[in-house]
Amino acid sequence: MKFFIATKNHHKLVELERILIPMGFEVISEIDLPEPLPEVEETGTTFEENALLKAHSGYAATGLITVADDSGLSVDVLDGAPGIYSARYSGENANDVDNNEKLLNALKNVPKEKRTAKFVSAIACVFPDGREFTVRGECSGYVADHMSGNGGFGYDPLFISPIGCYAELTPEQKDSISHRGNALRAFKEELKKYISEVK
Ligand code: IMP
Repeated sequence: MKFFIATKNHHKLVELERILIPMGFEVISEIDLPEPLPEVEETGTTFEENALLKAHSGYAATGLITVADDSGLSVDVLDGAPGIYSARYSGENANDVDNNEKLLNALKNVPKEKRTAKFVSAIACVFPDGREFTVRGECSGYVADHMSGNGGFGYDPLFISPIGCYAELTPEQKDSISHRGNALRAFKEELKKYISEVK
């Protein structure tokens, strides 16, 4: 079964491919298309709504079963911020360094026990016959008071998962506990309910 992965985020694409391909799925992405995908305005108020917006846009461009992820970091003491605004936390043209610095500043003087947070990934899947579903994966941890590690992307250098800082984990370790890994395992289970009808 062939899926289109609708994302412009190279890091996410790498993570989605490295989990979906060993599960036996054939995937194509934006680089396989003759033209880039249009930008999707993330007007949803939840991760699920934004994941569906991206998946519908990808489906409109390709006509293939389309999978999209919307994800982010929700920090308890910040009432869930940056949440769905994680990519644009420090502004529309934000980069990872600016976002991480803004988060460190927002948590200045907040003690470790109050820096609890969770990463969330909502994965949406849209089928050519109009059916669609979303699944969610989460990973709870806390936000460190300094950056560590060289791996990963986004808030990885600040997020301490139950097995260590995301940016210090191997790809296999991260996938085994990450929000995206958990969402993709839920995705695989949910897909089984649809599979006989989409073959
Ligand atoms: P989206 O592309 O609108 O879903 O934004 C996702 C944003 O959340 C990314 O730009 C990162 O800042 C953050 N994010 C999502 N997943 C991860 C992850 O696995 N590690 C670090 N940051 C992540």
